[in-house]
Amino acid sequence: MSNQKQRRQTVAVRGSRQGTQHGEHTDPLYFTSGYVFANAAQAAARFSGDEVGPIYGRLTNPSVQAFEAHLAAMEEAQYCVATATGMAAINCVLTGLLNAGDHVVASSSLFGSTIVLLDKIFSRFGVETTFVPIADNQAWSDAIRDNTRLFFLETPSNPLCELGDVEAIAKIAHEIDAVFVVDNTYNTPVLQNPLQQGADVVVHSATKYIDGQGRMLAGAVVTNQEAIYDEVFSVLRTAGASLSPMNAWSMNQALQTLPLRMHAHSENAMKLAQWLESHPQIDRVFYPGLESHPQHQLALSQQRDFGGMLSFEVKGGQSDAWQVMDACEMISLSVNLGDTRTIITHPATTSHGRLSPEERARAGVGDNLIRLSVGLEAVEDIQFDLMRGLDSLSS
Ligand SMILES: *Cc1c(COP(=O)(O)O)cnc(C)c1O
Repeated sequence: MSNQKQRRQTVAVRGSRQGTQHGEHTDPLYFTSGYVFANAAQAAARFSGDEVGPIYGRLTNPSVQAFEAHLAAMEEAQYCVATATGMAAINCVLTGLLNAGDHVVASSSLFGSTIVLLDKIFSRFGVETTFVPIADNQAWSDAIRDNTRLFFLETPSNPLCELGDVEAIAKIAHEIDAVFVVDNTYNTPVLQNPLQQGADVVVHSATKYIDGQGRMLAGAVVTNQEAIYDEVFSVLRTAGASLSPMNAWSMNQALQTLPLRMHAHSENAMKLAQWLESHPQIDRVFYPGLESHPQHQLALSQQRDFGGMLSFEVKGGQSDAWQVMDACEMISLSVNLGDTRTIITHPATTSHGRLSPEERARAGVGDNLIRLSVGLEAVEDIQFDLMRGLDSLSS
């Protein structure tokens, strides 16, 4: 019988195939900073690159490599570089692929630190960024300059859940041979594989859904292009934002339940979004699964489910948003996302607080906006907790 291609769910559960002579059923965890060479000649050969093999923990670790191979399999990709955090992954990509004088086109409603990295840090090294409305394909195209080298998209966006059309933007980027990078943190490989839709590079903050239980930080860069992999890995091994084996091992285990969790998050979020949309104290709900979402059709065509993130505007301003948050007794006030526990956030004064009012307006983050990372509690209990604050607004 010829081999059949394993389904996504199976790759998640069985995709890590590391084992030792002990026959352990789960993956081993390798703690070591260095590796022993058989003799001086072997050490020299490893350093010169004549022999492939471990040299030092900043470069490689078996537990980290197991996570990299597993995540690459889930993205149906060839190469993966794991990093200490999601921001480290983004930094390695930008540092590896850009030069002074280059120009970047990026969607305007990005994760707050990504905006700061591009706009305030890379600008100091002569890299300019034009921020464009994520859903306006013409704007991506119009932003192109002679020196445009890289396109950066986060879909769905944080915190408004707007989508970028990956296939369309890939075409625009490739007309000028720019590298197209997609931050796939929100959807994870379970809900979308941007590399299969034309992206050149995918970055993840594994801190979020991949870990899924708010325990540790990690990031990853995934690609099918060896040249890109080489540049990114070269920055990592030199600059040193390497992932710890402990975190890699945990993330690797967590991948096994990722498909189940992503669909359960999506189911809860859909029910909450529908309920919130009908609540009299709510102005607008942002969730790709709602028919009222301007890109609902795109969500249906490029994603496998709608995800666990949603946001909504309460009637009123910041004090009303805070009142809803402070009334919560179960839901956690925190800034993480992708946790089994539902988390409520006020983006304007936290994740997007470092931005100027103009930058915030450009990102569409109003004072009355609340972001919800919908967890895996019973949806009725999440709803009941939100109701405490929402009902107090009407009185
Ligand atoms: C959290 C996040 C990041 C940064 O990840 P860290 O692991 O916190 O460094 C990048 N992109 C998105 C979309 C995120 O949500």
